[in-house]
Amino acid sequence: MFFDLPYLIVIGVGMLLSLAAAGMVKATFARYSRVATRSGLSGAEVAQAILSANGIRDVTIEPVAGNLSDHYDPRTKTLRLSEPVYASRTVAAAGVAAHEVGHALQHAHGYAPLKFRSAWVPIANTGGGISIFIIMAAMMLGGVATKNGALAAYIGLGLFACTTVFTLITLPVEFDASRRALMTLEAGGILRSDEIHGARSVLNAAALTYVAAFVTSLLTLLYYAWRLGLFGQRNRDE
Ligand SMILES: [Zn+2]
Repeated sequence: MFFDLPYLIVIGVGMLLSLAAAGMVKATFARYSRVATRSGLSGAEVAQAILSANGIRDVTIEPVAGNLSDHYDPRTKTLRLSEPVYASRTVAAAGVAAHEVGHALQHAHGYAPLKFRSAWVPIANTGGGISIFIIMAAMMLGGVATKNGALAAYIGLGLFACTTVFTLITLPVEFDASRRALMTLEAGGILRSDEIHGARSVLNAAALTYVAAFVTSLLTLLYYAWRLGLFGQRNRDE
C-alpha cells in the first residue's frame, strides 16, 4: 500500500531536491576551495578572529575528521571544523568556518530559534520514530473513515509533524548563522568584498540542503494526510 504513484512522486521529488542541493554545495565548495584568501587566514584562524571580535573567549576550536562534518557543539562550547576547512586558507573554508561561528554567536546571545530547536530535538526524534507505525495502523483501520482509524491518524500525523516542525525551525537558525557570518567577515575586514561574494555562494548552497529537507518532510506529511483521507479523493483500494 506504500508503493503507489503519489508516494513515488513525493519520494522522487524529495530525492531530486536533496541531490540537486548536495551537488550545488559540492560544486560551489570545490570552486571557492581554489580561491585563496588574500589575508592568508585559514578556516580556524578566521573562526578565532570572529570569536575574538565578538569578545567570546570560552569557545574551543578543534579539527574533526570527514568532509563537511563541521559543527558547533553547544554542550561543550566546541567548534569542530572538518580538516579541509580547519587548515585551508581559502574563501570556501573561511565561509564554512564563519557559518559555524555564527552558531556559537547565536548560542552566546541566547538566540531563541536555536534554543527552541535544541529543545525540540528529542521530541522530533521520538515522534518521527514511532509515527510511521501509528500511521500504518491508521491506514489498516481505514483512516479517518472509522472512529479508531481517525484517532490513530491524528496521533500519527501529529507525531510525524514534529519532524516537519524541526526541519522548519532549522531554516531560520541556519539562515541567521550565515547572515551573522557574512556580516562579521565584512565588518571585521576578514574577507574583501569580492571574497564575501564567494563565501555567500557557498553558504547559500548549504542553506538549500535545509530547504530541501523541509520540503521533503512537508510533502511526506501531506501525502500521509491524503492517504488517511484527510483531504482529496479516497483511494479505491481502501
Ligand atoms: Zn549551520
